[in-house]
Order: sequence, then C-alpha cells, then structure tokens
Amino acid sequence: MGSKEKCVICNEKIELRYKPMEKWEIKGTLCGKCYSKQVHDHYPGEHIRVNLDLD
Ligand SMILES: [Zn+2]
Repeated sequence: MGSKEKCVICNEKIELRYKPMEKWEIKGTLCGKCYSKQVHDHYPGEHIRVNLDLD
C-alpha cells in the first residue's frame, strides 16, 4: 500500500479516510474536510458523532 487515496470531492490526498454515509450517494473516500462539510450540509445544526469504524 504505497499510494494514498484521493478524496472524491476535492481530489486531495487523504491523511485520514472517511467513509461517506450511504444516503449521501457518494462513491469513494472522503478527506476529513469534505466529510465534515457533507455532515454540515446534510445535517445543518445537528452535532453528529463521527464513528470511523462503525460498519
Ligand atoms: Zn476532500
């Protein structure tokens, strides 16, 4: 595993991988920045816990 994944939204290399939720209809992996942006876009005003390993 040499190369790092890229964020499907901003196309930057991902340091910490975030999986988009199914209802977001995003295929691929997100960086932390875009993940929290999606959370805020989909759940405005709500505070969502981020569970990376919840599968
Ligand atoms: Zn990103």
